[in-house]
Amino acid sequence: MSMPSNDVSTLLERRLRTETQGEVLFDAAARGRYATDASIYQVMPVGALVPRTERDIALAIDIARDLKVPVLARGAGTSQCGQTVGAALVIDNSKHFGRVLHIDLARRTATVEPGLVLDHLNAQLKTHGLWFPVDVSTGAQATLGGMAGNNSCGSRSIAYGNMVHNVLGASAWLSDGTLVDFGPCADLGARAAAIAAFVRELAARHRGEIEAHWPKVMRRVAGYNLDIFHNQSERPYTSDGSVNLAHLLVGAEGTLAYTRSLTLKLSELPRAKVLGVVNFPTFRAAMEAAQHLVRLGPTAVELVDRTMIDLSLANPAFRPTIESALIAGHAGGPAAILLVEFCGSDRQALLRKLDDLAGLMGELGLPDSVVRLPDDAPQKNLWEVRKAGLNIMMSLKGDGKPVSFIEDCAVPLEHLADYTDALTEVFARHGTRGTWYAHASVGTLHVRPILDMRSGGPAGGAARMRAIAEEAAELVRRCRGAYSGEHGDGLCRGEWIRWQFGPAIDEAFRAIKRELDPIGLFNPGRIVDPPKMDDGALFRFAPPGTSRPYRTIALVPVLDWSAWNVQNDPATERITAPGSGGDTTGGFAKAVEMCNNNGHCRKFDAGTMCPSYRATRDEQHLTRGRANTLRLALSGQLGPDALTGEALYETMDLCVSCKGCRRECPTGVDMARMKIEFLAHFKARRGFSLQDRLLAGLPGYAHLASRFALLSNLRDDLPGAAWLSERLFGLSARRRLPRWRSDTFWRSRGEVAFASRDDVIGLARQGARTAVLFVDTFNGHFEPHNALAAARVLRAAGYAVHALAWRKGRHCCGRTLLAAGMVDRAKAKMAALVDELLPLARAGVPVVGLEPACLLTLRDEALVMGLGERAQVVASQALLFEEFVAREAALGRFALNLKAAGAPILLHGHCHQKAFGAVDAVLDVLRLIPDAKPELIENSCCGMAGSFGYQASHYDVSMRMAEANLLPALRRRPEAIIVADGTSCRSQIEHGANRQALHAARLLERQLA
Ligand SMILES: Cc1cc2nc3c(=O)[nH]c(=O)nc-3n(C[C@H](O)[C@H](O)[C@H](O)COP(=O)(O)OP(=O)(O)OC[C@H]3O[C@@H](n4cnc5c(N)ncnc54)[C@H](O)[C@@H]3O)c2cc1C
Ligand code: SF4
Ligand code: SF4
Repeated sequence: MSMPSNDVSTLLERRLRTETQGEVLFDAAARGRYATDASIYQVMPVGALVPRTERDIALAIDIARDLKVPVLARGAGTSQCGQTVGAALVIDNSKHFGRVLHIDLARRTATVEPGLVLDHLNAQLKTHGLWFPVDVSTGAQATLGGMAGNNSCGSRSIAYGNMVHNVLGASAWLSDGTLVDFGPCADLGARAAAIAAFVRELAARHRGEIEAHWPKVMRRVAGYNLDIFHNQSERPYTSDGSVNLAHLLVGAEGTLAYTRSLTLKLSELPRAKVLGVVNFPTFRAAMEAAQHLVRLGPTAVELVDRTMIDLSLANPAFRPTIESALIAGHAGGPAAILLVEFCGSDRQALLRKLDDLAGLMGELGLPDSVVRLPDDAPQKNLWEVRKAGLNIMMSLKGDGKPVSFIEDCAVPLEHLADYTDALTEVFARHGTRGTWYAHASVGTLHVRPILDMRSGGPAGGAARMRAIAEEAAELVRRCRGAYSGEHGDGLCRGEWIRWQFGPAIDEAFRAIKRELDPIGLFNPGRIVDPPKMDDGALFRFAPPGTSRPYRTIALVPVLDWSAWNVQNDPATERITAPGSGGDTTGGFAKAVEMCNNNGHCRKFDAGTMCPSYRATRDEQHLTRGRANTLRLALSGQLGPDALTGEALYETMDLCVSCKGCRRECPTGVDMARMKIEFLAHFKARRGFSLQDRLLAGLPGYAHLASRFALLSNLRDDLPGAAWLSERLFGLSARRRLPRWRSDTFWRSRGEVAFASRDDVIGLARQGARTAVLFVDTFNGHFEPHNALAAARVLRAAGYAVHALAWRKGRHCCGRTLLAAGMVDRAKAKMAALVDELLPLARAGVPVVGLEPACLLTLRDEALVMGLGERAQVVASQALLFEEFVAREAALGRFALNLKAAGAPILLHGHCHQKAFGAVDAVLDVLRLIPDAKPELIENSCCGMAGSFGYQASHYDVSMRMAEANLLPALRRRPEAIIVADGTSCRSQIEHGANRQALHAARLLERQLA
């Protein structure tokens, strides 16, 4: 099938709109969001459909067949090889097809829809003591349909096998529209039996070729599983040697059929786990040991190399954990460690396994090289560190990036040491290097050489990629390994299928494709007849000389993005000076391009990222969707002026600027900051609305409004006024606004004995205990008791406290202006605040704030506003109230006489507190209260997010965010004291749960004895 004409795609769009109930997405920005997966490729789809019902999918397949438009099934789109991009109708299963259809506890099976996320399945299975054990690293977002499509493999595959070993059946549509049940060959219907007979005969005919060419390792995921009829895998596909036709679809990358449901084999959740960390003096020693270690029957043997160890040691948060896994004594520490895990039901037996491990290492000449981690918490911490190390590696700035194209070659363990040595030499010869990690147990070590894929010519990324791939392939052949051992074929490794299996089997694969999908409807050009891996026209960053070379537009950014405007040296990873990277947008585009589409922002775990996706499940309202749309706009791929166009506005609109991505995105994509940059350009062209002016200008008029509190509160007191405010300003009539009051902090500050500015400066110089309270507009005007409480608590602990005076708004950080894109005015405000605080900060007086969004602006956006060193000085002293108290308490300088609270304490962390790692400090401070055992509510954003939830257009999504976890958690605990430091969080809690939350300072004040 060729690329359809415009007429055909228009017709396709029209028919999908009229005949299905799905969301039909054909505009350029929406298509662009489905043009990439976690590979280096980009191919614009014809359009995308987010089906609501199975009927929608069946109809879409029929319509696409009628119009000769290819169909590409999609889950989370986290594939690394380009199998999830194509010039096709993309059908996204991930929004509406995430149900568990049936669990059979007796047989230990589950039947699921293809869009179900692995972790969501396992969460449901946990109560039954079961799990689905193909534990891919992307389990928080990867869908079962995608995992089956790729024949995915988890860290514990040595114990449980790959996807193919754990799929028992599949129901799938063929391209002629027939729905076929694939399963054990003994029970097949007529159509499936005919397919089975065809493939069986094909396998019989190719028996000799199969034996000669098929890699004899478990981790082989290339091509089709023709060997189900003549098993070549180290681990047979079925326990009784029978054939299951569903296995033909596993690893087929959506090229043979469209999966409607999958039946999966479940395993018992291991009751106990122990971990032995083996320290090796050389990398080679670790590689040589792997073959011996697996004989002990571990469930995982995972590698962490020296680079990863160093990265973890450099991070204060991870240092204690990684140190606890290292043995002092090796000069400079071990060159590599292997994490050897044993699981089972008998803990004593597992502990004996650790003894066996130590004994084996002694026999191998490395006595005393094992650190034992028998307890769950240290094990969990160490696995986290391993993951984080990879994330740091992925966050390398500059155009050279670690590129995944040979990162999952699988070799027999006896060759692992020679293979890794030789490949390291290959990298060096090509002027690059790679960091090694992951699955030593099955000979699949991940490694990504650093390449600049946007550079062209003989020394460009594509040329180097090919050269390295060819040399790596030769090494794999010498070791009789598998070139594609985990991540599939896609665009990247399709051409190596023929190399791996030879022309006869390649032809047999083509015959399989013809048998199941004779019209080539499903994901054409993958597995069969693939393009060249280094066809630059298919790259996301297409190099010069291709049909659409990647270039960025010229743009003068309003914030300082120069830290991203750098290049790196692939051999040393050294970064050039800020601003030297040659970015035509001053570094903004390079910051956006940091998104490598790994899809981690689709997770639903205890973290924050990404609340708008959690509420909508739309690719558009996801960090990745936003980054992709921005990248396409900044590179002119959405047409002229796309940066200030409606499509981009809609994409950024539901970003609540929670900064969750700033911390949780593996590559540090900071969409909240990007939204400020975007809004500045958008509003500069489109102008500010009345709502913008009203919300952004609040700190400016708050003092006056509070003088006339009665009048100012009429909006909520006068019938019809709220309705009018919705009409005029877009403020939701369903919300009450914060109440104005005339006794603001500045008018009540006489209640506390504040020190003068000169006094605190003088005292600080003498080493006395001092602080300056940065009272923000919101606490200062609407909840002055919070600021007074903080002052009283600090005073009670013996601190001299100063508070900034109200001087025409010189107390304000400009947060509301930033949120509206009024960056020039925000810079002026921030400059004034910094100047006010500077003499205090220079004297070493800590700047203590109450409102996370405001105080943390001093440590975040203030540093990219061109304020230079003075902003750095102030930032270095800026602390949230609890950070300050926790720090002082840890130093033994803070003591209070407090009484017990008499009720459980629940903490809702403000998103910015979480983004800056400041939640633990709040818990520490609450623990100062006798008998207090504060519990953190595991939730993402509360949905209010400053003024976001007050806006009528956001009300529904705001409430969906709140109802996801926060409000139900509060309703379950009516007796608990609720602590929430964010002003808007407290409003949301009052609105949604009818409960009063307290600032931590207020609770401490209440408990003063
Ligand atoms: C950082 C990172 C770490 C990773 N770690 C691992 C790992 O540990 N182990 C591993 O194996 N992989 C890993 N991967 C690769 C990838 O995450 C997995 O292959 C994952 O299982 C893909 O799931 P998905 O939902 O994103 O699939 P998608 O990328 O959406 O789809 C994968 C393939 O399945 C097909 N497909 C999807 N749905 C259907 C359907 N209904 N019918 C037919 N075909 C369908 C698609 O067309 C595509 O060809 C990693 C990727 C990244 C970025
Ligand atoms: S935004 Fe971050 S987490 Fe999301 S896909 Fe991009 S790199 Fe991954
Ligand atoms: S700032 Fe928050 S809402 Fe916006 S993209 Fe990042 S995680 Fe999502």
